[in-house]
Amino acid sequence: MSEDLFLKIIAREIPADIVFENERVLAFRDINPQAPLHVLIIPRTHVRSINDLQPEHDELIGEMFRVAADIARSEGHADDGYRVVMNCGERGGQSVFHIHLHLLAGRDMRWPPG
Ligand code: AMP
Repeated sequence: MSEDLFLKIIAREIPADIVFENERVLAFRDINPQAPLHVLIIPRTHVRSINDLQPEHDELIGEMFRVAADIARSEGHADDGYRVVMNCGERGGQSVFHIHLHLLAGRDMRWPPG
């Protein structure tokens, strides 16, 4: 999968079902949803994976989690609960190398994840 696929979504070069955006982050529905609600929250700035995070990204990562909570609430899943996941590297299941937080809701989640 293209390294900069999500940069193309940010640049509106490929379409996405955007549910939230501001100057720093963008959130859109996953094209292959794994739950009734499956949204990806991404930073506009390119960070390849969790391994590349720097202290300057701390606030941004916090905002991504808060945006996930806001979307979960606005879609009616805050009380029932939901899961947020960030995969890192090939063995962690990362296929797009631009960090993204998965927000999954609307079904029971299993533990441990596969
Ligand atoms: P990960 O495997 O953690 O890197 O997650 C990448 C996610 O991006 C997967 O859940 C894909 O279904 C999703 N995805 C790939 N291409 C698109 C796209 N064009 N629009 C929305 N989601 C996408």
